[in-house]
Amino acid sequence: MKIVIGEGSCGIAAGANKVQVAFEEIVKEKGLDIAIEKTGCIGMCYLEPIVDVIDNKGEKVTFVNVSEADAKSIVNDYIIDQNELQELRISEADLVTIGKQQRIVLRNSGLIDPERIEDYLAVDGYLAAQKCLIDLTPDEIIETIKIAGLKGRGGAGFPTWFKWDAAKKSADKIKYMVCNADEGDPGAFMDRSVLESDPHALIEGMLIGAKAIGANEGIVYVRAEYPLAIVRLQKAINQARESGYLGTNIFNTGFNFDLRIKAGAGAFVCGEETALIASLEGERGMPRLKPPFPSQKGYWNKPTNINNVETFANVSWIFRNGGEAYAAMGTKESKGTKVFALTGKVAHGGLVEIPMGLTLRDVIYEIGGGIKENKAFKAVQMGGPSGGCIPAALLDTQIDYTEITKTGAIMGSGGMVVMDETTCMVDMARFFLDFTCKESCGKCTYCRVGTTRMLEILNRITQGEGQDGDIELLEELCYKIKEGSMCGLGQTAPNPVLTTLKYFRNEYEDHIYHKK
Ligand code: SF4
Repeated sequence: MKIVIGEGSCGIAAGANKVQVAFEEIVKEKGLDIAIEKTGCIGMCYLEPIVDVIDNKGEKVTFVNVSEADAKSIVNDYIIDQNELQELRISEADLVTIGKQQRIVLRNSGLIDPERIEDYLAVDGYLAAQKCLIDLTPDEIIETIKIAGLKGRGGAGFPTWFKWDAAKKSADKIKYMVCNADEGDPGAFMDRSVLESDPHALIEGMLIGAKAIGANEGIVYVRAEYPLAIVRLQKAINQARESGYLGTNIFNTGFNFDLRIKAGAGAFVCGEETALIASLEGERGMPRLKPPFPSQKGYWNKPTNINNVETFANVSWIFRNGGEAYAAMGTKESKGTKVFALTGKVAHGGLVEIPMGLTLRDVIYEIGGGIKENKAFKAVQMGGPSGGCIPAALLDTQIDYTEITKTGAIMGSGGMVVMDETTCMVDMARFFLDFTCKESCGKCTYCRVGTTRMLEILNRITQGEGQDGDIELLEELCYKIKEGSMCGLGQTAPNPVLTTLKYFRNEYEDHIYHKK
């Protein structure tokens, strides 16, 4: 028998470490032969700490919101006295929620111990890399990713095969494979959770990508605010190296690839590829003009491919199951699944992974459990500070790169912040603009000064000091900033204001003309 405790950051924040100590004490006190293990986040952050009791036949019973006192009850009442202990068990409704998801990126999250390579190998880990390195040519690897239709999950949705092909075709002996784990959108924690829960999935995806483009060195750029993710990823890299999945002559193929972590200092703009590369080189993280693209001249002017954590975490599944199987999920334009961090006023906050093509209503009501305290849904912010608000009238919008973009929002990296009837949409737009204004690198005048002027206007509107003409001035600045900014941060910074003006203009007018 074993007891498995969810110890992602969400579980630890809810007290999982103390719960583990409580289990260790009671198991020792009772002289029981029970292993106590850990796992990552299964996505149901609202139920943490989550504890699985798995018997010797592999039967699992899940307990939720477990306190230190509950740990003693689980051992005394459930394990020793064999009482049902229904009051602590996960509900049928919550189990149904998981069943509605399609878990590819999160396939191992909350199920394996992220600090044990043996657990990853037991679920066929590194078999896809073995197949790619031994049996497939770089062109065949890229073709499989093309058939799968995998698009970059970092926000832009650019076809992964195209980037890999461009880097492969760049004529240089030295190339780099980089992972962008600089997840910075407020409300987004998908990549952190994958790093904490299944780090070998990232390593295996990067290894396959490295073979495809011909890179022998990889770097994972992780924000320093993710200490647990960094610790677990470093352990995984060490284990992969010791086991021969990183280093020289991998699978006796003569192919060499090694990986290291670079901790970023938390500048949002370093999520932009050229700023990330500058930061990797020890420079201030500022974007530069493209072309040349990183696939031509990237890290130290060498061909460099950059994808985010979720993109890489899909890769080994695609090679184990086939590009066609991946492409069979989703819509015509957007294949496969997408992970979302569901936060805000939604009843069941956490991580969800769904096939593309479900509607926003499916995610927020069917999986997310609707709005807290039975309040009315008002809007959902997708795409973080680069995205926008989607109102209740568009709840049946399909989740697909094209359909979401039509609303004025963007798919983004997966932040989904839900707002209820009590949310002031002007204040919400002001929050996101305050964020981008602070994160602007300052290179472009419109981004640097324009967002500052917009923030001043939004501040006075929300403080009841708005003036006639402020809305028109905001709109003018929005379009000027979009046109006059060099990188995505500035070009998309006005989106939260533009979408709230489009769908909730009355709230701006109420603030200005009715002093509400
Ligand atoms: Fe920097 Fe903003 Fe210009 Fe991007 S748009 S380069 S963040 S000033």
